[in-house]
Formats: sequence, C-alpha cells, structure tokens
Amino acid sequence: SKASPFLEPGLKTSPNTLAIVSLSRDNFQPLTLKQSSGAVDGYAEGATLNTRFGSFPHSTLLDIPWGSQVRASVVDTGSRGRKRRRDEVESQDTPVPSQDEGDDKATPSSLAKAVVASSGFAYILRPTPELWTSSLPHRTQVVYTPDYSYILQRIRARPGSRIIEAGAGSGSFTHASARAVYSGYPRNAADKKGKVFSFEFHEPRYEKMQEEIKNHLLQDIVHITHRDVYRDGFSIDGKSPEATAVFLDLPAPWEALHHLSRRKIQEGGKEVGNDGSRESPLDPKQSVHICTFSPCIEQVTRTVTEMRTLGWTDIDMVEIAHKRFTVMRERVGANLPSERGFNPTPGDVNEAVRKLKSDIGRTLDFHKAQQSRLDSEAPDCKMDVDEQAPNGSSKPTPNGNGATETAEEPTFLQGRIVHRTETELKTHTSYLVFGILPPEWNEEAEAVALAKWPCGQ
Ligand code: SAM
Repeated sequence: SKASPFLEPGLKTSPNTLAIVSLSRDNFQPLTLKQSSGAVDGYAEGATLNTRFGSFPHSTLLDIPWGSQVRASVVDTGSRGRKRRRDEVESQDTPVPSQDEGDDKATPSSLAKAVVASSGFAYILRPTPELWTSSLPHRTQVVYTPDYSYILQRIRARPGSRIIEAGAGSGSFTHASARAVYSGYPRNAADKKGKVFSFEFHEPRYEKMQEEIKNHLLQDIVHITHRDVYRDGFSIDGKSPEATAVFLDLPAPWEALHHLSRRKIQEGGKEVGNDGSRESPLDPKQSVHICTFSPCIEQVTRTVTEMRTLGWTDIDMVEIAHKRFTVMRERVGANLPSERGFNPTPGDVNEAVRKLKSDIGRTLDFHKAQQSRLDSEAPDCKMDVDEQAPNGSSKPTPNGNGATETAEEPTFLQGRIVHRTETELKTHTSYLVFGILPPEWNEEAEAVALAKWPCGQ
C-alpha cells in the first residue's frame, strides 16, 4: 500500500496525497491534491486552490518535485465559474467560502483579486510534523514543535518505540511521535514495529483524528481509540500495548496514572495485584519514560505526588522558553563594505557616517516638530505611563522616568523607545513533568541479574 507522505514522501507530489502549500513565510495551507479529468465546480481546469495570491489549479501542483515554486495561473481559466460565484456572493454581503479547503478567509474582494492577481506564487512542500503543526485545523490547544521535540527525546522515542498518548486533541503531537517511532511498515499484525497508541474521549475529535490519520496514511503506525482513559485505562482489546513511553496531555494526568502501573488493573481502574482482569499497558522488561504536559503548577504538584506514590523515579519538571531570533543585515551607506568582501576603505566609513548624521538630523527635526505641535495643542496632557513624579511636578516622559525635558537635550536623545516583538516575549505553554518507571524487581529479574554477576555479562 501507499506510504504516508509524512514518512516516505518520494521525490514528487502525487494525487490524493497531502501537500503543504506555502503562500508566505508564515502562511501554510494543507491541501490534498486531486487529479481531475474535467471541470470541477465551475472551474474549467478542475480542482483549484484559490488564494489571495492567485489561483492554483491542482493540475499545476501535481507530479512536480517537492519544494517547487509554482506561479499562480496566468490563464483566466475557470473565471466563468468564479465570476458566477462572485456575482452570487456580491449580492449576499457575506464572506465566501473558498473553492476548496485552501482559503477559509476568502471574501468577495479576495476572490475578485484571485481572477486578476495571477502574478503570485507558492511553494509546494512535503508534509512534515512541523508544517502540519503550523497549518493543522485547531480543535484544541496543541503541543508545538519546541515542546514536542524536547519531549520526544526525553521519553526516548526512537524507531521501534511504542508510545501511549492521551488525549489526541488536534493530533499535533501524534504526527510528531508517529515519525519518531517509524521504522518501516509492519509486515504483519504481530510485528512489533514502532506504534503510537492514541486515546481521545471527545467523540467528534476522535472521529476527525481517525479521518486525518487515514488520509495521511498513518493508520499502520497510529492506533486511535475512543475512550475515557481516567476510567478505562490504556489496554487495547484487553491486551497490553507494551509501551515504553507515555505522553499525557490531559487536564488531570494524575487520574490516569494508576493505569500505568506495573501490576494488572481491575476493571474500573483499581489496582488489585496479580489477579486483576487487565494487563499493565507497559512493557514489563524495560524502563518506561513518561511526560505529562500541564499549564498550571497546581496540576504539576498533584501529578508529582501521584507519581511518587506509584513508584516513578527521577521525577523532574522543565519549562521550554522558546525564543525566535531574526538575523538580518542593515544597510548603512551606499557603498556597503560587505559587498566588497569586508574590506572597508576610509571612503566607505566617511560615507556611512555622513548618511548616519543626515538620518539623525532628519529624526531630530521630526521630533522637534512633533513636540511643538503637542505643546501647542495640549499643553497639560500627560503621557499614559505607570511612573509619574509623586508630586506631579515634572512632566512625565515616554520612558516613564519622570525626567524633565530641557531646552538643550530633548528626552528622546536619552534613549530609544524599543518594542519587544511578540516573538521575543516569553510564552508559557506548559510545564513538562518527566519520570521513569523501572521494570519490576521480581524473582526472575533477580535470577537474571545474579546470572550476570559479577561482570554484568
Ligand atoms: N496533545 C494534543 C495535540 O498536540 O494536538 C492536544 C491535546 S488537548 C490539549 C487535550 C485532549 O484531551 C482533548 O482533546 C480532550 O478531549 C482530551 N481528554 C480530556 N480528558 C480525557 C480523558 N479522560 N480521556 C481521553 N481524552 C481526554
């Protein structure tokens, strides 16, 4: 059967597989490419991705190498269909759904543009978990790449691993873990190749996930179950998934932990020693690594307490503070030293200084003009800042330090007002709690250890 484009994408795009269309740096759209032999929905060229950057008939996106740049259609094919739709919607005054899954923000004006603005382009990218995370339809909060890349290495996910995941939510973590455990397709049902056992109790989310996993051809790797794991645990058809790694993104992970014991579990979740009715879902012979993902510290303390009670060791907590850096060059003068291999001449430096001086002069004039306009319009107006001089004697300044402006030195010269861009702000996602459950020490384990004694052979 066909391989998942997430795992073995091949060299080129193909029909009925997922592709990620990149329309700009941060605008990714998932698209299942369709091969059509005739007009579809009024579009002469068949299924078409309609975006504000232009229209992309699927036929122009098929059978091309991943990463190709594709120009929007220059031929106004299908415009009759679009015109008809536009005429219809212009009398409605409501946003228009796009021709297909491509552009859910299409409006009458953006559709109109799609007909004329055909000079846009897009890149067609092979699906990866990272791109899927950036473009997937959100049904819940999702785990993002900086968190899941760290989590997957801490729980030792690798080709052949068997991971339990709950809840599946929007499937962001599921896709990343499927790739991490993939070690070739299993040849038969008994083959214990890498697997992700994913659980979700919200029925519509479970159904959507199942559909996506099937469309992405990941059903041999990901097994999704509709279940309340607090109540019913993690076994699959009464059998143990024999997991070595667990990831819990649940509101109350501590309520699921007793199912992740080394002992058999009784129906209803109570631990009953060795004569219970359900196998432990964990691999009995290997250490199991767990991560729980919780936004609040109270959830962390409850989880850690329960983990300690149940014998988990090496418990620790991590928070990922992801920061994005933008690296760029700034042009200073006309004769850029960098254009000549970092070999500036005195002429270059003089030119750069002259340009800087002229820029500063223009900025000074601008601020002077602004200040005098403000003074004349609202002499008593105060800046809306936190810190004002207690007696209100000095005129508050933009940086809030209450310094008074003097005729000689305008306050803006005391320092530049800077903004931290959104990407620079520290964003809290969740606290990651990690732990390890060693294999049970029993008679068999002791016999194995003693047989190896003293050399550990
Ligand atoms: N990790 C997911 C992702 O990356 O897309 C997001 C998970 S979302 C934050 C939490 C999910 O857990 C929700 O979809 C919710 O329905 C599910 N859930 C909550 N309690 C559950 C339970 N007792 N059993 C199974 N799923 C549960």
